[in-house]
Amino acid sequence: MATYDLVIRNGLVIDPASEFAGAFSVGVEAGKVATLTTTAITGHREIDASGLVVAPGFVDVHTHVDGNRAAGYELIKMGVTSAIGGNCGNFTWFDNPDAMKQRLHQQKDYDVINFNRLDRDWADLLQEIDSQGYPVNLGLLAGSATLRLKAGANDPNAPATAAQLAEMCRIAARSIEAGCFGVSFGVMYTPGMTHEELVALFGVAARYQGIAAVHPRHGGTGLPGVVPSALVGHQEIIDAAREAGARLQISHIAHQIAYQSRPYDDLTRRGLLMVEQARAQGIDVMADCMPLAQNVLEVGLPLTAALYEMLPLVEKQLGRKIENVVFVKEGPHKGKGLTPALYRQIKEESPMTALALKAMKEDLVIQTLLPDWCFVGSDIGDKFYPAQAKVIGNYVREHGVFTLIQALQKCTSVPAQRFGLKHKGRIAVGADADFTIFNADTLSGTHTFMADQAETTGIEYVIVNGVPVMSEGKLLDTLPGKSMRHVPW
Ligand SMILES: [Zn+2]
Repeated sequence: MATYDLVIRNGLVIDPASEFAGAFSVGVEAGKVATLTTTAITGHREIDASGLVVAPGFVDVHTHVDGNRAAGYELIKMGVTSAIGGNCGNFTWFDNPDAMKQRLHQQKDYDVINFNRLDRDWADLLQEIDSQGYPVNLGLLAGSATLRLKAGANDPNAPATAAQLAEMCRIAARSIEAGCFGVSFGVMYTPGMTHEELVALFGVAARYQGIAAVHPRHGGTGLPGVVPSALVGHQEIIDAAREAGARLQISHIAHQIAYQSRPYDDLTRRGLLMVEQARAQGIDVMADCMPLAQNVLEVGLPLTAALYEMLPLVEKQLGRKIENVVFVKEGPHKGKGLTPALYRQIKEESPMTALALKAMKEDLVIQTLLPDWCFVGSDIGDKFYPAQAKVIGNYVREHGVFTLIQALQKCTSVPAQRFGLKHKGRIAVGADADFTIFNADTLSGTHTFMADQAETTGIEYVIVNGVPVMSEGKLLDTLPGKSMRHVPW
């Protein structure tokens, strides 16, 4: 009888890409799927997956884990085995580095491979992942805001000079050659970024068939004549993608467009249509979506001040009072709705306090996730959120909006294909041996509105490169994850 490193038996094996599902034993050898068979095989290590689904490990291309090992284990709890970090321009580290350091140090075990130290390159960091190990496989995007700092464009509100832009492009190219999957942008956090700068950096990503992943300049409904809406932010990056021939990835699209709006505004429908039209014109645009109807303004009060001070205008426009829209997310006033008096007090006492904005609607989030070009990304970083489990569990069983295979595709094969991860997101002979083994009846992702309490249930085993990192629902102290590197084709 053939003997393998690892055998997973008695489970329902699903390969979402081929829509193949069946009762097979999986044999793993040297970190790869070696066989799928109904004949008897044995393993040095064996997992009995009776009553469970054996799926490819979830692939999460929108994260901010960025070398945080504790966050890597949070990904394992979510069933994620491969992640891309460095999203949204890496804004967290330099928008207000001191405040962010403070926030991160509040976390226990903040065991960091610091991705964004300016004296190091992304290439060094990829090497560190390989030499030190990581809970999951991890790839990187080169953040445009970090590129700006490396090139000396220190003011996020000012355009980069021609020389700085040339230097940013040079570093971006070198980073992609070293394995980055492209360039990420947080245009909202770098208001000085011009169309020229976007097109130039999109062009670098395009030269290597890499991704331009963008958190757009504007989100939400806006206010006509005062604040542009998400549609303006999306049009800007679609135009840049057209000019540069780039592969555009719109980040957390529901958090731009899944807002309640008046029928004639209908932000969600128009946002989706805009992407459909761009695709019909041959622009390579897709999106990731966090299935959470909440907008947490992570970077604190200064960024939200404009928004909060806008509320009276919004109320005037809607013709009604908006109450309980902005909530305090941390500190002594945690959980309270923001009032003008409380706003002034917090601004005085601790101006980096994170706030949560309650304006999104879950049925609009689901609508946004429906198209084939949209898939799941968790946006996890210093908050943790069971995105995949919610879609594969709750959205399949309770909302009935996807079949199990469709939901799995949006969490495995589709993101893997988008980032050119040829051996990820599949269960097939030769694929990397990354698995998430769960109970389809109990898999669920739950969270409070503030997402400060989030939980995944129903996941029994998570296996990375043939090595269990979760077994019978318990985390194991092992770091089998490797770096993932972009290979231009
Ligand atoms: Zn973002």
